[in-house]
Amino acid sequence: MKAKFLTLLLLASLSFGAHAQSKKTATENIILVTFDGLRWQELFKGADSLLIDDTGLIDQAGSLLSTYWDEDPIKRREMLFPFFWSTIAKEGQLYGNRAYGNMADNTNKMWFSYPGYNEFLSGFADDSRINSNNKFYNPNVTLLEYLNQMPAFKGKVMAFASWDVFPFIINTERSGIPVNAGFDIAKGTDLTDVEKTVNRLQQEIRGPWGGVRLDAFTQAYALEAIKKYKPKVLYVAYGETDDWAHDGKYDQYLLSATQTDKYIQELWNTLQADPQYKDKTTLLISVDHGRGITKESWKSHGARVPEGGEIWLMAIGPDTPAGGEMKMKGQWSSAMVARTVYELLGLSYPDPKAAPAVKEMIK
Ligand SMILES: [Zn+2]
Repeated sequence: MKAKFLTLLLLASLSFGAHAQSKKTATENIILVTFDGLRWQELFKGADSLLIDDTGLIDQAGSLLSTYWDEDPIKRREMLFPFFWSTIAKEGQLYGNRAYGNMADNTNKMWFSYPGYNEFLSGFADDSRINSNNKFYNPNVTLLEYLNQMPAFKGKVMAFASWDVFPFIINTERSGIPVNAGFDIAKGTDLTDVEKTVNRLQQEIRGPWGGVRLDAFTQAYALEAIKKYKPKVLYVAYGETDDWAHDGKYDQYLLSATQTDKYIQELWNTLQADPQYKDKTTLLISVDHGRGITKESWKSHGARVPEGGEIWLMAIGPDTPAGGEMKMKGQWSSAMVARTVYELLGLSYPDPKAAPAVKEMIK
């Protein structure tokens, strides 16, 4: 009897030991961020010489030159994205500069938003079912939903998005994940002063579009949620860049891109100042699709635009080697993010359909 008990105890401690040893990564929290339709061309080469001073695409001739123009594309990209090129380029990794044959592409063939976000969050393209931007509940389970099913993450997964289709993409009905999207306000009986103020401002400042709010509101809610709820998995989906581009406003597109770089810096600095997150959090940033390269086609994307599936990827965190701008030839995709996130957390992704992880992102 006693021997049997000791054996059980030994087995229990062995399996506990094995479990403790199996987590080899430092990442305990994940922050996912997406831009909507921000081109790799601007990310890696800065403002586009074809568009930066075209009076059909900007309000005032010459207005962007002092802020965004330099002959050197390396300087231009630093002017446009100071946080990415100072911090992520030193401590993290950036994929998708096609000048080096470092290719990042959608695996879906739709090249618009819902299929792009489905691929990013689920780990695979699903062109037969995810082929419109309509508000239908995603039949696929996202990495957010899988994590929310695990005791360690249950109730600690949240999303904030500027576009009002995200509750469907994340399937709030089935996943139970809170998604504050579109013109949703913060709800509850314990609203903070910040939430009350942002709620009020969001209802007063309507913005230019119907289904997409200004990113300042998404940012304000997300930042407050980090402080209030301390999510272990947070997804922030900015929206402005795509809508400014569809509107043909290159000035607003660039200004918004820089503002979003600042927002991400603000998220990162907030996390690094908090012991729950500091050196235990990986930030992954990507985009749902590319867009065209001519004066007309840069405004749009979709299967008819040849460059519409060209994307980019970035990561920074304790398990990601400081590779900076990745220059080796190869093919990456947004479908690789789901499994990568799991492996960063020391887990294996439950859906065999998901693309492989980005091995280079994990030490
Ligand atoms: Zn679009």
